[in-house]
Amino acid sequence: MGNGVKKLLSSGVSQLVRMATRNYIAGPEIEDAQRVCAVLVDRGYWVTQGYWDGANDTPQIIQRNCAASIEKLGRFPGNNYVSVKLPALDYDENLFGTLLDQSDRQGIPLHFDSLAPGHASNIFSFIRRIALPSTREIGCTLPGRWLRSINDADMAAEIGAKVRVIKGQWDDPEAPHRDPQAGFLQVIDRLAGRASCVRVASHDVSLAREALTRLRNAGTCCELELLYGLPAAPLISMAEDLQVPVRFYVAFGTAYLPYALSNLRTNPKMLMPLVKEAFKRNYLSSIPIHSSS
Ligand SMILES: Cc1cc2nc3c(=O)[nH]c(=O)nc-3n(C[C@H](O)[C@H](O)[C@H](O)COP(=O)(O)OP(=O)(O)OC[C@H]3O[C@@H](n4cnc5c(N)ncnc54)[C@H](O)[C@@H]3O)c2cc1C
Repeated sequence: MGNGVKKLLSSGVSQLVRMATRNYIAGPEIEDAQRVCAVLVDRGYWVTQGYWDGANDTPQIIQRNCAASIEKLGRFPGNNYVSVKLPALDYDENLFGTLLDQSDRQGIPLHFDSLAPGHASNIFSFIRRIALPSTREIGCTLPGRWLRSINDADMAAEIGAKVRVIKGQWDDPEAPHRDPQAGFLQVIDRLAGRASCVRVASHDVSLAREALTRLRNAGTCCELELLYGLPAAPLISMAEDLQVPVRFYVAFGTAYLPYALSNLRTNPKMLMPLVKEAFKRNYLSSIPIHSSS
């Protein structure tokens, strides 16, 4: 293929990527997230709000956006929470401390997103040292891809954290070929009957169904957590069959291409979904009224 054609293709794909990424966040501003959350809450869902930072954001800017999220979510009914990326706050105890105070005052709990494996130990030690002693409820995220998540599940159950289980965007450097689905279910089994509540965060319908069924059979509080912008209808109907509440994670700020599509170079099959995503419209109007939350 000539260089000119290659350049043209590559700029076409970049343009598609830019169009597609816009669908995975509510918009750049908190008002965008608020507008989306208002519709979802009105249709019977719980919501998570998260600020996705950009390259030029300081920890102070990120903290202000998290604080605004707590304040604004406090206006909605339901079991809603704010998700934070601790490394983006630079593990700053003062900045985080003001968020914790506000979270407790307004009754909107905080939850920690999972990031690259190098951050995991720091995040969990921060939870133990700083967050736990001063809050009523805290949430953390465990990737099924990581071997360490089994032990982290024990710790999360022991401290009473609410746990979001995901496949994870980053491989475990010590087990790069670990099967994310099998790992996901191992973490679920470890939490079943022990965790205070488990948030099954996956758009993989059969995996999510199996995980929720195991948790229900063990009598463990559980819910389905979906990412705003990704296909949701079959998952919502599965959750309704199981009578499990559904929440949407609504991000605002800087758009990233989510997981499956970001592997375009190694997985060219994702090109067609990317094209569909780029031209997708009216996501919110495709979300039905939900009765189990
Ligand atoms: C609520 C929520 C919170 C998350 N939080 C974190 C976090 O804190 N840290 C982290 O590392 N990761 C997080 N993730 C991402 C997660 O780690 C996985 O990368 C992601 O969920 C992919 O796994 P999956 O289980 O959805 O299955 P996949 O097999 O990737 O997807 C299942 C199905 O969803 C559909 N699908 C997937 N992607 C697309 C797409 N882009 N366009 C159209 N259809 C698509 C396809 O039908 C696919 O078969 C989160 C995911 C969710 C849903």
